[in-house]
Amino acid sequence: MAVIHTDAVVIGAGPCGLFAVFELGMLNAQCHVIDILDKPGGQCAELYPDKPIYDIPAIPSLTGQQLTANLLEQIAPFDPVFRLNCRAESLEALEDGSWKLTTHTGDEFVTRAVVIAAGAGSFTPRRLPFAEARGYENGKGLSYAVRDADQLAGKRVVIAGGGDSAVDWAIVLAGRAASITLVHRRNEFRAAPGTLAKLQTLIADGTIDFQVGAISALHGQEHLEQVELKSADGSRQLPCDELLAFYGLVASLDEINSFGLTMQNGQIAVDTATFETNLPGVYAIGDIAVYPGKLKLILSGFHEAALMAHHAIKQIRPDARNTFQHSTTAMQVRLSKEKTAC
Ligand code: FAD
Repeated sequence: MAVIHTDAVVIGAGPCGLFAVFELGMLNAQCHVIDILDKPGGQCAELYPDKPIYDIPAIPSLTGQQLTANLLEQIAPFDPVFRLNCRAESLEALEDGSWKLTTHTGDEFVTRAVVIAAGAGSFTPRRLPFAEARGYENGKGLSYAVRDADQLAGKRVVIAGGGDSAVDWAIVLAGRAASITLVHRRNEFRAAPGTLAKLQTLIADGTIDFQVGAISALHGQEHLEQVELKSADGSRQLPCDELLAFYGLVASLDEINSFGLTMQNGQIAVDTATFETNLPGVYAIGDIAVYPGKLKLILSGFHEAALMAHHAIKQIRPDARNTFQHSTTAMQVRLSKEKTAC
């Protein structure tokens, strides 16, 4: 548990949160970025990394993953500090006008500007729908993400799901785990063509055992020992030390709803001149923000980030003279300062 003082905290490392770091950075504000996912990019990285996007101005086409990589390169000069696998959980007003933001890990951020770029809410894994499953979480055999692949070596691993995560991990763990059984309700997977070809080879040579069906129950005393597989032929038990369930993500607004913000149908109402919410010094941009005529587009979020930053800097440094500069000037000054420091 740590107390971190910073100019601005950005909740959400999606494209709009990342661009907020750029706009604030141009005004010399240091940012910490919090995201519950294990990587930056928000929807672009998690939901459609390989799909081309055609409406980013002056870039005819790039994938969700490329957009994320470009944004990370663009903000690198501002040294943002990322807290991934971390959920922003509560927000408290302090007497001097700053905010204390607490994460689910207990870390506290004290800041004068909070930028909520939380999209549809914090992404969490879709869990197995039966009650006993909870009892096998936290090191007892059921996981919704791989934290340490080495711990799966030599184990009988069952992987459930038909998307990128299920396919990628089946391939990565093939040969390292004692056995890999891949369970999916149909004989079709959503993954890149090259990855699918690799998967087919590993199934054909018997390295991966593919089963059509659904996990319907878990069994084991202290730790998971068997999973029940339900298929068209009936139910049967599969021996299993570790079950990795990759059923996609669901977005939750529970934490944001507790912040005391004015919400409209799951979005945060903002002033379109500043992107400030009803709480002074707390801003909302990107998909989570709502105002008349709002379009949930990445380019809208980029515009919102620029206006937000020019207002937020007055909260961060009320006494400083903030003069508007184009990036052609501001970045040149910054990059030449960096060169001199080297
Ligand atoms: P997001 O990308 O949703 O990122 C929000 C991040 O905040 C997430 O990573 C989430 O985990 C995190 N978060 C939320 N709450 C918390 C919390 N409490 N603590 C920690 N982290 C939290 N838009 C276009 O402009 N052009 C397109 O062509 C296009 N194509 C699309 C195709 C698909 C299939 C989809 C699903 C969307 C598409 N979009 C497109 C929409 C675009 O992806 C969104 O508008 C954009 O991602 C919004 O960015 P954001 O930064 O506001 O939020």
